[in-house]
Amino acid sequence: MKPLSERTKTFTDSVIRRMTRISLQYDAVNLSQGFPDFDPPKALLEALAKTTTQDVHQYAITWGAPNFCEALAEKQSHFMQHPIDPKTEIVVTCGSTEAMTCAMMTVTNPGDKVVIFSPFYENYGADTILSGAEPIYVPLNPPNFTFNKEDLEAAFAQHPKALILCNPSNPCGKVFTREELLYIASLAEKYDTYVITDEVYEHLVYAPHEHVYFATLPGMWERTLSCSSLSKTYSITGWRLGYIIAPPNIIETARKVHDFLTVGAAAPLQEAAVTALRFPQAYYDELLDLYTKKRDFFCGALTDLGIGHTTPEGAYYVLLDVSDFAFDSDLEFCEVLARDVGVGAVPGSSFFKEDINSYIRLHFAKQEDTLKRALDRLDGWKKKIPARR
Ligand code: GLN
Repeated sequence: MKPLSERTKTFTDSVIRRMTRISLQYDAVNLSQGFPDFDPPKALLEALAKTTTQDVHQYAITWGAPNFCEALAEKQSHFMQHPIDPKTEIVVTCGSTEAMTCAMMTVTNPGDKVVIFSPFYENYGADTILSGAEPIYVPLNPPNFTFNKEDLEAAFAQHPKALILCNPSNPCGKVFTREELLYIASLAEKYDTYVITDEVYEHLVYAPHEHVYFATLPGMWERTLSCSSLSKTYSITGWRLGYIIAPPNIIETARKVHDFLTVGAAAPLQEAAVTALRFPQAYYDELLDLYTKKRDFFCGALTDLGIGHTTPEGAYYVLLDVSDFAFDSDLEFCEVLARDVGVGAVPGSSFFKEDINSYIRLHFAKQEDTLKRALDRLDGWKKKIPARR
């Protein structure tokens, strides 16, 4: 038999999703793959129940059901403070995962370069490979995860077609400041580069930090593909509802890519989600309040346990310092952690381009009881993990 495609040889399966399977295997408290263990809002589930008697069980319009697009345009126009045309500036996708791949395929040709900040969400590496593009990594330097302006300009000087901006950032919890974003914008303008954003944590930005939508910076609307999803905002990661917002000329092309990739996102779920997109401001305030409390509780408890960790400015991930354990492989460490301590984590190396082996990622999008169970298990973890062979 002839070998399978060359492009699939260069990446593994997702380490994040592999860690979920490993957590299940060892019955570990799974704080690896980021998803909540609490219910979505009741009103949303009621709307979902209603769809069983509605006429929404065949294909929706490929780029998004009209009522979903209208509700989304209204919501995002409000938060982005920029008018969005539901008919020409949105494509609804199967999660932000498809949105990002679709955006990459819309913008790049094989061989084009794409700037990615490191650490980065692992899908971006695979997205570049699938679209034939070549990543240029620019480090976000721990502990504050700031970038060096010269490093970024050096990357732009290689004339990339696009930059990927995950803000708030998974896994490091960085929220880019307006000043940083303006600097990126100045380079995007100078080198005529598109910007593809991943803003799925847009509503999880902890005070005093503020979310600035990159597309809304002066001159950036024309060159930005804003990707996001409903997964984290409404606790519905399994619904796979995402979208790209961009000017009509970009969306016209993105719709073609999406059309042939997936035809469309699930029609009944789009119908039900209209209810969520029309939630009042109080919903977003309560969500942020809930996650702020979770962050403070979880990070505070880690500190009390004497575990070195980052404190995110946004999103719901924490990087723990595991350098004391001196494992050569953080992947091996995470397997031992799941097996002997009973906590599922993601090895930091799956996010860093640099040879960094001293972090693991946990998340706190869980009920307090679940977090407490994980923290109890982490208590005295050094004694539970056998000395390195
Ligand atoms: N974004 C989440 C994470 O980083 C979930 C990833 C996924 O499996 N889609 O864990």
